[in-house]
Amino acid sequence: MYLHFFLLATFVPGFVSAESTKSTQGEFMIAAAHPLAVYAGLEILERSGSAVDAAVTVQTVLNLVEPQSSGIGGGAFMLVFDQSTGKIDTYDGRETAPERATPELFLKPDGSPENFFDVVGGGLSVGTPGTVALLAQAHTEHGKLPWSELFQAAIELAEKGFPVGNRLASMLAGTLGEHLKADSDTYDYFFPEGQALEAGEIRTNIEFARTLAAIAENGAQSFYRGSIADNIVNKVQNAPNRQGLLELSDLHTYTAIKRQPVCHPYRTYRICGMGPPSSGGIAIGQILGMLEHFDLTSLGPGNTLSWHLLVEASKLAFADRNHYVADSDFVRVAIPSLLHRNYLRERAQLIDTNSVMQTPVAPGQPQKELTEIHHPDSSIGRSGTSHFSIIDANGNAVSMTGTIEGPFGSRLMVNGFLLNNELTDFSFVPEREGRLVANRVEPRKRPRSSMSPTMVFNADGSLRLIIGSPGGSRIIGYVVKTLVVVLDWGMSVQDAISLPNIVNRNGPTELEQGTEAQQFVQPRISNLGHQLKISKLVSGLHGIEIADGMLRGGADHRREGVSQSSY
Ligand code: GLU
Repeated sequence: MYLHFFLLATFVPGFVSAESTKSTQGEFMIAAAHPLAVYAGLEILERSGSAVDAAVTVQTVLNLVEPQSSGIGGGAFMLVFDQSTGKIDTYDGRETAPERATPELFLKPDGSPENFFDVVGGGLSVGTPGTVALLAQAHTEHGKLPWSELFQAAIELAEKGFPVGNRLASMLAGTLGEHLKADSDTYDYFFPEGQALEAGEIRTNIEFARTLAAIAENGAQSFYRGSIADNIVNKVQNAPNRQGLLELSDLHTYTAIKRQPVCHPYRTYRICGMGPPSSGGIAIGQILGMLEHFDLTSLGPGNTLSWHLLVEASKLAFADRNHYVADSDFVRVAIPSLLHRNYLRERAQLIDTNSVMQTPVAPGQPQKELTEIHHPDSSIGRSGTSHFSIIDANGNAVSMTGTIEGPFGSRLMVNGFLLNNELTDFSFVPEREGRLVANRVEPRKRPRSSMSPTMVFNADGSLRLIIGSPGGSRIIGYVVKTLVVVLDWGMSVQDAISLPNIVNRNGPTELEQGTEAQQFVQPRISNLGHQLKISKLVSGLHGIEIADGMLRGGADHRREGVSQSSY
């Protein structure tokens, strides 16, 4: 039923069915990075599947058609809203460091840190993948349709073939493609007969179809044990570039973790996100907690001061993020203190409406005894990630961000899917100036993330907005922009996504290249003394809002996504 929409979406450039005017009663919607994933997920929702059921389908199809960005070789975070109880569950499927990894994993023999790009490709950067375990646990707790049915769309597409998208094709044709030559499985898949896949070419992935069929029939354990696990370990340990430390026991013992959501008020709303090992929920909470002390609604999007405030609050939040946030199973992260109203009021008082804070701004002291322990780590993460938002016919919702870290992850392919390079999200240096870095490598630890799957609730507890994005540590700024534009300025989620990105990560203020941000905001904001940098800022924001009893979707024109409701 949705296929003709897919055909339209795939072959008509710029097709984005971003707006829907359906009542939410019995209606459903998906916003994701590829039309094939959206329409496969809608089929599940049409069969009365839950939002989590659809998420399994969307993620597996994304893995096939957008292999450079996310998949079962990587990790993810998922928020699930249960409409009947009003409860929110958050699942952490983040990759773990191998048991054999030490804090010196990314140090050279002379003690200096490795060059980042020397260790991205190869086995050393691969963490134990968590996405399959996450999907299985969320499905056990929130699924309605049988697990095995949720893989059929991806299996069929993998067997019959899918049209290669423009974005994948252009990455293969560029310098990134050059980096895919080290592993012959990767190279053979993306360069059949030595030629890079081209846009529109039909590609099958029979190995991936077999992998998914095994997981569909035998559950997540067939990923973490048996031949798939053997192949993963074999590939990592014998990688052509850096050999990695992953062992079968790392896979056997992997579990996704259900964690407390990080929720905080913002004006009349309650905003919920992912806690550690993600820094996203805390950083977004801090930025908004500071912005609450300014009347953004009166200022509006056309006033440079609004963007100045966003940028200054971001600097302060990133200072704390870099200093305090890491996997909370290893490092104490004082979340209530970091988000305390009084603390954020004090931090907001550092913001001057007429002048600019020099960077790097120092972290605050939410709890004095914590300040001495850590030295900041500003590792940023890169762009091999995908976000999708789903609302089902019963009003249950999913906000999920999945990643293999950089584009094409470790560039190692096993059984038809790419393995992550998530371990490079750790600090390469375990200590500085005699102080430990919170985000240092430790056995079985999860690297700090910036992924920020988010949900917003009205004062009566009803769902208002689902949002998230790829983009490394810029994710935090992309999501904050969308929240402010929708909640303070009353624009639609689509307009908010389309508005130029402006971010600051406690360094220069980055303005999106070739947009009004560069054209209009640059001259005005530079008068305030901001150190500016023009960057591409390729967000991949995919969101759904519920406003006036309507579902409205938003997809990011910077990538290939769509949003589509039932009809
Ligand atoms: N690996 C990054 C993180 O978890 C995300 C990278 C990206 O967004 O592309 O924060």
